Amino acid sequence: MAVPKRKTSPSRRGMRRSHDSLTVAAFQECSNCGELKRPHNLCAACGHYNGREIVSAEG
Ligand SMILES: [Zn+2]
Repeated sequence: MAVPKRKTSPSRRGMRRSHDSLTVAAFQECSNCGELKRPHNLCAACGHYNGREIVSAEG
């Protein structure tokens, strides 16, 4: 089994972990119904994207 030759220093460990943080998911208001939706995604509430209806709202 491959074993690290040296103990990872606190500096090296910190450099590795500098990319580990999670980001908060982005949300925008739908221009049609005002519901929060993910950018570049179809609105889950009304089925609109870019000002027109892509999927008809069920129910
Ligand atoms: Zn909408």
